[in-house]
Amino acid sequence: MKRATGFLIATLMLAGCGSSGSLGTAADRLDRTAHRYYDQVSYGGAGAHTSDDAARLAEATRIFNRAVDRNRSRDELRPSFDRVADRYHHLRRQVEDRDPPYGGASVAFDRVTDAYLDVDRAMNHSGSAYHD
Ligand SMILES: [Zn+2]
Repeated sequence: MKRATGFLIATLMLAGCGSSGSLGTAADRLDRTAHRYYDQVSYGGAGAHTSDDAARLAEATRIFNRAVDRNRSRDELRPSFDRVADRYHHLRRQVEDRDPPYGGASVAFDRVTDAYLDVDRAMNHSGSAYHD
């Protein structure tokens, strides 16, 4: 019982420490949605280019999410987030200009966008209220 209480307190302290709580939630969601999008386009008949771009975004979001889990500061996270942002915008152009989203892939890409915007807000507007 005592050990369980100690563990709970440690967990609460971890969850409450620093600025990465809401960023952590958003980064998790971005990682998950980017991988789901990649699954959709790689089995769904999108062009090979889109599928490659989706794979590169998914890879970047995984690396970024792990860095957030290690409680890095925003400054330390910046280069990793910049890579995510580059790949997201590149993929977005690809999807809009050459390989329009369709069906399930369209819904999946909208979820990536929502998650990306939440991460962007958490990274760049620390003063503004964060919402799910
Ligand atoms: Zn590309």
